[in-house]
Amino acid sequence: MYDVIVVGARCAGSPTAMLLARQGRRVLLLDSADFPSDTMSTHHVHRPGLELLREWGLLDRLLDTGCPPVTRIVYQVEGVRLEGGVLPSEGISATYAPRRRVLDQLLVEAAVEAGAEFRPRSRVTGLLWDGDRVVGVRHRSADGGTEEVRARLVVGADGMRSTVARRAGAVMETEDPTLNCAYYTYWEGVTGDLELYHRSSRFVGAMPTHDGAALVVCYFPQEQYDEVRRDSLAFYLESVRTTAPELWERMSGSRRTERLWGTGAQLNFFREPYGEGWALIGDAGHHKDSMTGTGISDALEQADLLARLVGPHLRDDAKLGSALEEFAVERRRLLDPRYAVTLESARLSQAYERMEELRWISQDPDSTNLFLAIALWMVRQEDLPEWMRERTDGGGEHR
Ligand SMILES: Cc1cc2nc3c(=O)[nH]c(=O)nc-3n(C[C@H](O)[C@H](O)[C@H](O)COP(=O)(O)OP(=O)(O)OC[C@H]3O[C@@H](n4cnc5c(N)ncnc54)[C@H](O)[C@@H]3O)c2cc1C
Repeated sequence: MYDVIVVGARCAGSPTAMLLARQGRRVLLLDSADFPSDTMSTHHVHRPGLELLREWGLLDRLLDTGCPPVTRIVYQVEGVRLEGGVLPSEGISATYAPRRRVLDQLLVEAAVEAGAEFRPRSRVTGLLWDGDRVVGVRHRSADGGTEEVRARLVVGADGMRSTVARRAGAVMETEDPTLNCAYYTYWEGVTGDLELYHRSSRFVGAMPTHDGAALVVCYFPQEQYDEVRRDSLAFYLESVRTTAPELWERMSGSRRTERLWGTGAQLNFFREPYGEGWALIGDAGHHKDSMTGTGISDALEQADLLARLVGPHLRDDAKLGSALEEFAVERRRLLDPRYAVTLESARLSQAYERMEELRWISQDPDSTNLFLAIALWMVRQEDLPEWMRERTDGGGEHR
């Protein structure tokens, strides 16, 4: 009997397991994948996520892996260019895009170090029930056998297509249409800043990562997905060439180090995040278009929230129920504004509606730095002046 079984061991699951194990809870962490491994994701980590990694004692470890610091940001919409420095706060003066196989492995190791039991190559296939309450999971283990394990709480951190959510019958709280598709790969020796280019219906992002390579991602409107997927590499290359010519020039002499990764499943939803004996975090409970790149940070923050709220109450049904209810409320408070901003940004025409504003901002370095800091979540909503918060409260206004 465990206190908690966490299904999924990446940026939502491993920190949850780590934090609960640090509280002295008995935790089992399962993942169908083997580690270290990559997953479908680009990987810029926003400031709130970096702050948590530092708080947990993991940021220095991440930097020791050779993840390059990035201190400049370029955002270009057609002819308007905003260029500024990364805003330092509380000792963090750069931003980072660690490969997932590095970040996720580091998180797994931290969970194991804290005392969680980790079983890779273990796929959860079903939940165990006692009446209406989830009391454990059934999983296929690495050796091919089937095993049943029990716990006070089962946490589904098993991604957008969560088995835990499906088996628990979690219903959708919010659902919005899919807006984009995304394709990315890696380019050896391409150095630079965090670069974001917007032109016509294309959005291109680039950032240095591990192994002396740069990640370059391109977003297309969902309506073009069928056309793009027929020859995605050609579409990708042509889009980088026409949307980000100066980046393209640097890429031209360089080698593509990996296959092209891509997805049209940029789903936008919130699922109900808990029931009796179960909870969902990370992409399992909430997913949104990756254009604003907040999923990793969101996952780390939800792990922190859940572990803090439920950790002390695992042996008391009534208190556990209240803690989960509070998690549900706090989760929406945290993620609703990001969801609204993401849906706005993921309409690729959106930047054009504020060209005048961008042109004005680009002419003033302080405004440019502030704009970039807000856009990249380097400033927390609660730290903004009142008049700015009104414009960024997720009510559909621009940021
Ligand atoms: C194209 C793209 C680009 C992105 N770019 C960024 C970005 O730049 N920055 C950012 O912050 N976010 C980005 N994201 C979002 C980010 O990848 C996710 O939000 C994040 O990975 C969520 O983490 P998670 O731990 O919840 O889920 P996942 O990373 O999906 O991990 C789920 C884990 O659960 C395991 N699992 C699944 N089913 C089972 C099962 N039945 N039994 C056992 N294990 C199971 C899987 O093997 C997997 O390891 C991007 C996403 C995409 C698709």
